[in-house]
Amino acid sequence: MSDEQEALTLVKAWTAGRARLKAAGIDQPAIDARLMLEAAADATRTDIVTDPYRVITPEQAATLDSYLARRERREPVSHILGRKGFWKIMLNVTPDVLTPRPDTETIVEAALRDWPEHEPRTVLDLGVGSGAIILAILAERPAAKGLGVDISEEALAVARENAANLDLDGRIALLRGDWTGGLAEESFDLVVSNPPYIPSQDIETLEPEVRDHEPRLALDGGADGLDHYRVLAPEILRVLKPGGRFLVEIGHDQSLQVEPLFRDAGGVEVSTLKDLSDRHRVVWGRKKPLET
Ligand code: GLN
Repeated sequence: MSDEQEALTLVKAWTAGRARLKAAGIDQPAIDARLMLEAAADATRTDIVTDPYRVITPEQAATLDSYLARRERREPVSHILGRKGFWKIMLNVTPDVLTPRPDTETIVEAALRDWPEHEPRTVLDLGVGSGAIILAILAERPAAKGLGVDISEEALAVARENAANLDLDGRIALLRGDWTGGLAEESFDLVVSNPPYIPSQDIETLEPEVRDHEPRLALDGGADGLDHYRVLAPEILRVLKPGGRFLVEIGHDQSLQVEPLFRDAGGVEVSTLKDLSDRHRVVWGRKKPLET
């Protein structure tokens, strides 16, 4: 590179990256290009705004170039960078777990709503994946303890790493299992789950980022998408303490099917919460308290 040749600055790299992703038809080219630039150039979001003419090294430019090439092939940013922010925590992410999604923060927000900060409660996360839901909850409630269950050993390894990185490994146990098989009755104050709920035949219609890169095991809900709720509703009511609360994520058009499954299993106060996009996203309710 000759001295006269213009050096690549943060702002130029961002602009060029954004244009490249836009040309490839990527949905949010500015955000994705910025996240990859931050990682490649070891810069923060603030650096890009306050120090836009900082020159990046040829090695950093080459790293950014390889990230952009992978994104052009529709690999998710979370897989390229190996991490994803969720609620107030940062999580390691691999192709063995579902990438945490903002929609799922609806569960965290509702779980914390009527829970005083220092009150000890026990939490079970069924299909824990990366640990996003339960770790976000434990991070907010210092007296809480949790158990995360997953059928995938690879997913549990990711959750274990995330728990350790967040210094939450002393308050969470991670167990391989098929939903609640092996767990005792009336053990938990709160049960959360984001089970697979996409109807099998719809999977091929999903965006390439999801269809080609995310684990089928975490997406496929059977013929009508509801297979796992049929199993989970009675199991969740079994392991909840009387008066305990459950929160399960659903597809935006599944509320009318999923609510009755939980009522039939003995759930009370069953209703559906909306996500930030105003779509039905979480069915919640309680197990009948003893004294009423
Ligand atoms: N919300 C995810 C998607 O649409 C699916 C998550 C799930 O099946 N639990 O890709």
